[in-house]
Amino acid sequence: MSDDDNKTRTRKPLGLKRAVDAGEVKQTFSHGRTNKVAVEVKRRRKLVKPGEEPAAAPAPTPEPAPAPAPTPAPAPAPAPVEAKQPAPKKRPAPSDETPQERVARLQREAEEDRLHQAEEARRREDAEAKEAAEDERRRAEQNRKAEEEADKQRQAEAEAAEQLAAEREAQADAAPEAGEAEAKPEGDAPSGSDRPAPRRFTPVARPEPKKPERKKPKEEKVERPDKRRSGKLTVNKALNEDEGRRARSLAALKRAREKERRTHGGPSRPREKQVRDVIVPEAITVQELANRMAEKGADLVKELFNLGMMVTVNQTIDQDTAELLVDQFGHNVQRVSASDVDINTSEDTDPEETLRPRPPVVTIMGHVDHGKTSLLDALRGTNVTRGEAGGITQHIGSYQVKTKGGDTVTFLDTPGHAAFTEMRQRGANVTDIVVLVVAADDGIMPQTIEAINHTKAAGVPMIVAINKVDKEEANPQRIRERLLEHEVIVEEMSGDVQDVEVSAKNKTGLDELLEKIALQAELMELKARPDRDAEATVIEAQLDKGRGPVATVLITRGTLKRGDTFVVGTQSGKVRAIVDDQGKQIKEAGPSMPVEVLGLGGVPMAGDNLTVVENEQRAREVAEYRQERATEKRTALAPTSFDTMFNNLQNNVIEFPVLVKADVQGSVEAIVSALHNLSNDDIKVRVLHAGVGAITESDVGLAAASNAPIIGFNVRPNAKARQLVEREKVRMMYYDVIYHLTEEIAKEMIGELGPERVETVVGRAAVKEVFRSGKRDKAAGLLVEEGVIRKGLHARLTREDVIVSATTIASLRRFKDDVDEVRAGLECGVVLADTNDIKAGDQLEVFEVTERERTL
Ligand code: GDP
Repeated sequence: MSDDDNKTRTRKPLGLKRAVDAGEVKQTFSHGRTNKVAVEVKRRRKLVKPGEEPAAAPAPTPEPAPAPAPTPAPAPAPAPVEAKQPAPKKRPAPSDETPQERVARLQREAEEDRLHQAEEARRREDAEAKEAAEDERRRAEQNRKAEEEADKQRQAEAEAAEQLAAEREAQADAAPEAGEAEAKPEGDAPSGSDRPAPRRFTPVARPEPKKPERKKPKEEKVERPDKRRSGKLTVNKALNEDEGRRARSLAALKRAREKERRTHGGPSRPREKQVRDVIVPEAITVQELANRMAEKGADLVKELFNLGMMVTVNQTIDQDTAELLVDQFGHNVQRVSASDVDINTSEDTDPEETLRPRPPVVTIMGHVDHGKTSLLDALRGTNVTRGEAGGITQHIGSYQVKTKGGDTVTFLDTPGHAAFTEMRQRGANVTDIVVLVVAADDGIMPQTIEAINHTKAAGVPMIVAINKVDKEEANPQRIRERLLEHEVIVEEMSGDVQDVEVSAKNKTGLDELLEKIALQAELMELKARPDRDAEATVIEAQLDKGRGPVATVLITRGTLKRGDTFVVGTQSGKVRAIVDDQGKQIKEAGPSMPVEVLGLGGVPMAGDNLTVVENEQRAREVAEYRQERATEKRTALAPTSFDTMFNNLQNNVIEFPVLVKADVQGSVEAIVSALHNLSNDDIKVRVLHAGVGAITESDVGLAAASNAPIIGFNVRPNAKARQLVEREKVRMMYYDVIYHLTEEIAKEMIGELGPERVETVVGRAAVKEVFRSGKRDKAAGLLVEEGVIRKGLHARLTREDVIVSATTIASLRRFKDDVDEVRAGLECGVVLADTNDIKAGDQLEVFEVTERERTL
């Protein structure tokens, strides 16, 4: 048996873990002498089936307890004590416990404890919550009562007031003898003592309908927060209704949104409903158009994208596109033309009866040194200091003189014929009469002829002033005769052109000249309406250091007054001061008066129109519109300038870039046109910028970037610009005489061009066949048709009259021999340098290149 037992003991554990086996063996050895050995072993195997209930029973007892613990624990809620008790009770049990069992038990106990605690906590919370809820309810009740109380009081007061009023009325009606002063205190006193009673009574009966209204929101408030932030809410509610308001405002917000959605309906509905008249100008930004349509900019961009246009809201679209968009969005298009925004003075004619005679405006023209300035000075009666460098009239100074007969004549001084024509080109035909000055000792000169042509082109009557008659060699008659050649027939030659012999030096014939001008003016019946908003033409404009932008204008109609708001060209302004030809400040200026105007927003251009407008807003609007147009024009011109640039590149035209800065607008214009006259097919002057005023940093920057010199005419760079000039090494060219300027620039341009390249064609040949020559090159078999072909000469290969390549003759052969020259009628083979694109049928033109000094 023991053997068997031993066998079984040893065998059975084999199926179990080895570690357990060894332990058991040891235990058997150690307990072998005691009786307990078998029990211990059996208990180990109790898992198998020892049948020994009493031994097994004590161990399982603690087990069933923890197992049901999770369920019974929550049920007997007030059993925390019991829950604790089983744990100490269980502790003695371990005496016959295995370590594993102990661990399991302890875990179970811990779990039990945790559950109990959780349960307890839950119960406590519940209790607290209930308490809080009750508390809340109590407080709410109190609040309600308090409010009801307040309500009642309010109502009572209102009623009391009503009653009081009624009483007063009654008293007033019933006891008219009683003084009002007495009646009032009487009324007040009883109301104070008697009313309190009704106060309490009346509200009980009446405010009831109000109560439920107030209760409802309160009750809702109470119930809801009960679950969570009960305490917090009650306090808030007790103090004020903030929380309630907040809750309500959220709902209100939702409702408002709902309402909005409902009113706006689908996205397409409002468009149909709100059809707008959209003003579409010639160019408009997408955003601006969106604003005018009251649509979203992004929607427009989307629509444009659908139309195949990739634009942003800030980009400008043209009128047609804008109209398309307006149509698509279902609005009405209102096209706006320039005349709607801009001022069109031509349509605004003054009625005949409002017109009054005005002084004639006279321009003196003639050849250089024939005495224009001298005559102007003589006529003015004051000898204006002749400080002009080089003696060329560079500043425009205009003035009025009175004739002996009491007539007034306005003289305009212009820096040359070009200015006269340019003004005319801009529609500023301000000159009524031209006085052509011809020096009796010099005769008809090129500029005299030019002046005659300009005058005729302008259709302006002319008066010939034969000057310098004081000179011995003067021959006025010859002048008259010579004028016939240019179809100027003076009165003495039985024509209709008036002529006068004058001497600017001796001041003779001046009155006669003025009289003739007055007579001519009378014939012309020059009139203008003086009592209207002024219009004027800019004769010249400049940036004055102290006074800002200053324009010399000639009033064409109306009267210009100090304080008038005006538009001039692309500038707007308000007349700050009017200065007359004497340098005196005046309050207003009428037709044909040349005056200086201060208060401009910027420097306008000579020839610009000045128009007085009703208000500053209008002035700004027009000025802005004109600026936009000017920018458009510039950008519109860009492609053309690209074209010219491209052409220039193709034609190898060299550009000579310059910047021009001068003291007055007249000089700027004179210089720019003189520079343009220097241009030819090979080299062109490109005026990057021309303006009035000192040379600034931005000028220097531009010049540096374009590697252009700056031409300063009577102006110098300011301090900052000077520093920049040094740093950027910009070349400065200062002048005070236009002639010197043009001469020097011309020289520079010649230098820029270098010597002239002259091509002389020496021979022509036809390509008959093409064959290989060496590994890479192709050789052409030629028949020389004209002249000669020489080795090393320049050659142009053409195919159907299109140049294929420009190259040189690399080698020339005849019957396998290298030769230097092949004459017409002979065949030869050539290899062209740098090209293998040769085909039978091509033409070869051979030419020599020589260089020679250039002239402009
Ligand atoms: P502009 O270039 O046409 O303006 O001519 P200017 O007025 O500068 O005159 C040129 C020169 O002619 C000056 O030296 C004048 O002194 C001179 N001059 C002008 N008018 C007369 C005149 O009536 N008689 C004489 N002898 N010399 C004159």
